Amino acid sequence: NYIREERRKGKLSSEVNVACIKSGQIKEVCVNCDGGRIVRPLIIVKEGKVPVTTDHVEKLRRGEWTWNDFIEKGLVEYLDPMEEENAYIALNPEDVTPEHTHLEIMPAAILGACAGIIPYAEHNQSPRNSYEAAMAKQALGLSCANILLRKDSRGHLLHYPHKPLVQTRLLDVVGYNERPSGQNMVVALLTLTGYNIEDALVFSRGAVDRGLARSTFFRTYEAEERKYPGGEEDRIERPPPNVRGYRAGEVYKYLGEDGIVEVEAQVRGGDVLIGRTSPPRFMGEYTEFEISGRVRRETSVDMRHGEIGIVDAVLITESSEGNKLVKVRIRDLRVPELGDKFASRHGQKGVIGLLLPQEDLPFTEEGIVPDVIINPHAFPSRMTIGQLLESMAGKVAALKGVFIDGSTFYGTKEGELKRELKELGYSPTGCEVMYDGVTGEMYKVPILIGVVYYQKLHHMVADKMHARARGPVQILTRQPTEGRAREGGLRFGEMERDCLVAHGAAALLKDRLLEESDRTTVYVCENCGLIAYYNAISDKYKCPLCEEKVKIAQVTMSYAFKLLLQELMSLVIYPRLKVS
Ligand SMILES: [Zn+2]
Repeated sequence: NYIREERRKGKLSSEVNVACIKSGQIKEVCVNCDGGRIVRPLIIVKEGKVPVTTDHVEKLRRGEWTWNDFIEKGLVEYLDPMEEENAYIALNPEDVTPEHTHLEIMPAAILGACAGIIPYAEHNQSPRNSYEAAMAKQALGLSCANILLRKDSRGHLLHYPHKPLVQTRLLDVVGYNERPSGQNMVVALLTLTGYNIEDALVFSRGAVDRGLARSTFFRTYEAEERKYPGGEEDRIERPPPNVRGYRAGEVYKYLGEDGIVEVEAQVRGGDVLIGRTSPPRFMGEYTEFEISGRVRRETSVDMRHGEIGIVDAVLITESSEGNKLVKVRIRDLRVPELGDKFASRHGQKGVIGLLLPQEDLPFTEEGIVPDVIINPHAFPSRMTIGQLLESMAGKVAALKGVFIDGSTFYGTKEGELKRELKELGYSPTGCEVMYDGVTGEMYKVPILIGVVYYQKLHHMVADKMHARARGPVQILTRQPTEGRAREGGLRFGEMERDCLVAHGAAALLKDRLLEESDRTTVYVCENCGLIAYYNAISDKYKCPLCEEKVKIAQVTMSYAFKLLLQELMSLVIYPRLKVS
């Protein structure tokens, strides 16, 4: 306690924490002053009294005091998780008793920046709040106001971000309202057409055409004119056809005279954005064979495979070493399409299953057509009542033209929302009579319709869609490459193999795993079982052990298996192939 008193007086650093641990045989005092501990501020309570008064808060509001004054005057202190074990923290000022040592500054602050944006979080099953805290980081928005001047290596921009109609108090604290990352959407809850089965969403084509959830993807490519010892240097130019590695096709067609792609050109994967040539890697390389002497290498920067876009901006500048540096930013408009991922603020994520024309969507008596239709089966098992409350609160907010406070523990209560809805002439449950958009018939049951804040997440189909017929292979194993970025094959794994084995589809299995993958022909000595080779000079097959006098067999096998044999040999293991 002496250390704590000294710290509160300011004689010790406010970042020193002391804890007394008593459990079983252990009785020890731990003093921590190392970096990297997580600490959080709490109001100090002395003998059941809270020293922080409204007077202090007023001073802070007027700007006479800063946050540091509270710490220096011993009103607030930082506790680390260890010292927290010795503290007894009251949630609200009225709960403080003489036993309490600290008071929470704001109970909702325990949620943090991500979970703090969830309205009515106390009505949700807790894992859903955790899911949302993870998903809030994937939402597209307006991350910074100068995004058009920046040259980030990649980034997204939501075109029409909204402030959430249902607010929480933390939104202002973390600046979410200045840089929002979502849109208020009219959401109806019904199982329409079957295209919203399993968390899929039905979007209104009309709303999408009017700009709902539109975003732009940016990627910046860069190239530098590097200087090499010996006075050689890179050149940013249109590569002449005689350079080594000159690319075939029309990949250079968008380059200007200066070797840089023209602004507003529509480019796609493989197109060269910045033409560049470099000197040969080694002095005198290839001079024996080439007539022209020393030939420069092609080192252009090209567009990533599988991406398309429009050249948005070109920046020519200097790097820190004084070399010429060219940056090219590509933009790509992303209109919501089938398979794009969205989520509400309650861990309810889903992908678009159908874009339905506005005239085919259900409508209310007033002619309101929902932007999104979600499936009611998303609720019973997940118990995200918070979203239903947000739907009602959003409806009240939209009808009255005000923001509704939906802060965790302090939000506008359900009864209040019901009263407001009734006053506005709606059913207090938030449900409305709706009509089928195709037949015009009235639905037998009232449908819940309200306004919910939805986030567009950065998992978009345009970034994931992939197929391959023929393409590159790995050098080591000669099997197809992996992953979309490398134009890779689709994995045919163990479980898929088991399926074909169970079906007895041996020919298909051989076709997938051998013929269409890494089939190779290997010569094997019938005497010793080692891999033999063909000697082109003497036109004879030869075994490294038995020389030329033995029979050599031709064996078809997977190249990966040949590699295994040779790796075993490198471990001084003698693998023998018995050929009969
Ligand atoms: Zn042999």
